[in-house]
This record gives sequence, structure tokens and C-alpha cells, in this order.
Amino acid sequence: MKKTITVLAGDGIGPEIIPPALNVLQAVGTRCGHSFEFVPAVVGGQAVDETGWPLPNETLKVAGSSDAVLLGAVGGPKWEGLEYERRPERALLGLRAQLGLFANLRPAKLYAELADASTLKREVIDGIDVLVVRELTGGIYFGTPKGVEATPTGHRGFNTEVYTTEEITRIATIAFETARKRRRLVTSVDKANVLESSELWRKVVTEVHQTYQDVELRHMYVDNCAMQLIRNPRQFDVLVTTNLFGDILSDEAAMLTGSIGMLPSASVGANVGMYEPIHGSAPDIAGHDVANPIGMIASGAMMLRHSFDLGKEADLIERAIQRVLAQGYRTKDIESPGTKLVGTQEMGRLIQSVILNDPSVILSEAKDLG
Ligand code: NAD
Repeated sequence: MKKTITVLAGDGIGPEIIPPALNVLQAVGTRCGHSFEFVPAVVGGQAVDETGWPLPNETLKVAGSSDAVLLGAVGGPKWEGLEYERRPERALLGLRAQLGLFANLRPAKLYAELADASTLKREVIDGIDVLVVRELTGGIYFGTPKGVEATPTGHRGFNTEVYTTEEITRIATIAFETARKRRRLVTSVDKANVLESSELWRKVVTEVHQTYQDVELRHMYVDNCAMQLIRNPRQFDVLVTTNLFGDILSDEAAMLTGSIGMLPSASVGANVGMYEPIHGSAPDIAGHDVANPIGMIASGAMMLRHSFDLGKEADLIERAIQRVLAQGYRTKDIESPGTKLVGTQEMGRLIQSVILNDPSVILSEAKDLG
């Protein structure tokens, strides 16, 4: 297989975590006979410095004509004072809108070796494997009318939560399709006891479910879900929800696993998917080779699985990450007594080396690949 991937390293730790991810993908290419071509383009603060805008047209053109996009992170104190339209983070909204990325997939899976990094007890989090499917381009973040207006006694701020049948149908379809590749359980999260938009959400999700009778569907109110994620997260497989609820619940689910540096995400919808770690540009640690590259590397695995249908190759990356953690190697954010501290680039090299050289991973991979 030959694929072209747009690489947007961005700001802060972005340019540090991207090279390990590309090296790991090259290693998978070498092992499994695929060819990945990486095309770099500027985004975020780096693009503001070079072109005046966080998402130059040239970058959009390159991204739109590739097979997938890998993004490091954008933003930093240097650009915080800029007007809203020129802020680095605007590039993310632009990419989502222009590439039609209406679904955000965020797995929260616990690596057993890191169970002690979580703030929850081991017996609560052992074995959790939750995928939050968040609607990304609708709901209260985009609904109109919105604004702040003067009133006789002060001001009035308002936003509108709005969802159409079409928007709910397409995100529910992604959730059910994804659940079919997992444990076949979808929990749809809403606030149908209070919000009319949630009433429609629940009705449409139930209708879409008619075509997915092999998948179990449960409905849950968002307040209960926030509680259940802490109380018994193992009850969840795929969680599907709105933009606002998903923003909050996906962060909560992510933190079950302990470190923000470990987790990948995918934004999908139309033809070109975008893959990025869930964290930001971490300006406080940038330039010191201490950032954890695993979230970025695992984002590459998600790209293989969701954009290229290379599930076995994605498994290979995830197994290699697990192997290196089992060998005791840790970046600073996940370090604990008795483990071996390594930097960003060394962690990447170790994972790459397992993919290229570890006979047990290669053997199980060969078996899996049939
Ligand atoms: P952040 O995720 O960058 O950092 C939060 C904390 O987690 C920091 O202490 C940081 O050092 C740590 N951290 C993050 N990633 C890590 C990694 N890979 N390894 C080890 N430690 C890691 O969030 P923030 O500090 O709120 O935001 C910093 C900048 O990033 C801001 O400009 C913000 O707007 C931007 N941001 C960008 C994205 C994105 O590009 N998708 C997402 C969130 C925030």
C-alpha cells in the first residue's frame, strides 16, 4: 500500500513528537511492505510567523489532497495576544470545517503497566477500553443565535444548542460501525429529560439502531455518565454524544488512564481523516526532549486503522508501545520508582526498534497477518 500523509508538526512539543511517530510508521512500512510519503506543511503559530495566518491556503490544499493528516499541536504564549482570527488554535477549527471532520474518536485504554499512574484505584480501572465518539461540527459551539447583548440592567449572553436529523444520523452511524469492530455496545449520552435537542438526539439514535441490531444500544443522561465513568468505567465500550458533552466526557475518560501524553485521537468524516494526540503544545516542557511521544505515535496507529484499514499494522504499533512500557522505559510524565527514564527521541527509537527487531512481536504480528 502507498499513502501520502500531510504532516503538520505545529508548535511547542509538536516538532519533537512528530519525528518519533514518522520513524515508527516507516518501521511499520518496512516490516509490512507499505510505503508512506510524508509531506510537511506549516500550521498554527509557526504558520502565523511565516505567513500571517494560522492555516494558510497552501496547507489546506496539501492536506485536502493527501490520504490523511498527522498533526502535532498548535499554540503557545507567543501568540496569545493575537486577535481571535489569527490565533494558532483557529487552525484546528478551519481544518475540521474544511476537511468535513464531523466525528472525533478518542480512545481511553489503559496500559496495564501504567495502572498506578491513574488517580483511581487499580481495581476500578484495570482493563478499561472506552472509545468516546464526539460530534464535532454541530451543537452549541456552532448554533445560532449566539452573542452577548446589552440589557437595561447589564448584559445577556446566549448560545443555541441545535442538532438536525442528518447530523445525528451520521454520528450515530459512525458509533455503531465502530462498535461492530469492538465489543458491540453503544451508550448514547444526552440530557433528554431537560433538552428538546436531546429528545431528538435520542429518537434519531434509536432509529439508526434499527439497522444495527447486532450492536446493543443503551441511553444515559450526561450527569449520570460523568458519575459512571468514575464509578465503573469498564461498563462502557463506545460512548456517542454531542459536541459539548463530548468535550467534557472525553477529557474525563482520558484522565482515567493517568497521563495526557499517552492518548491519541482521530477526527473523521469525509475523505481525509486527521490524527493528533489529545494534548496541546505543552510550552512549559518544549525544547527539552522530555515530552511523551506515545500519544503521537498511537495517533499514527489510529490513522492506519481508520483511514487505511490497516488494523493489524495498528495493533503492531500498540503492541510495541506495550512491550517498551513492560521493559520499564518511561518518559518523565509517567515515571515511577524502579523504571528507566528516557527522553522523547529515545522512547521513539525503542518503539521503532521493537517493531523492526523484536522476534516475539514480529512472530505474533506474522501470525496475525496470516
Ligand atoms: P497542554 O496539553 O499543552 O499541557 C497541559 C499539561 O500537560 C502541561 O503541564 C504539559 O507539560 C503536559 N503535557 C502535555 N502533553 C504532554 C506530553 N506529550 N508529555 C508530557 N507532558 C505533557 O495544555 P495547555 O497547557 O492548556 O495548553 C498549551 C497550549 O496548547 C495552549 O496554547 C493551548 O491553546 C494549546 N492547545 C492545543 C491543542 C491542539 O493543538 N490540539 C489542544 C489543547 C491545547
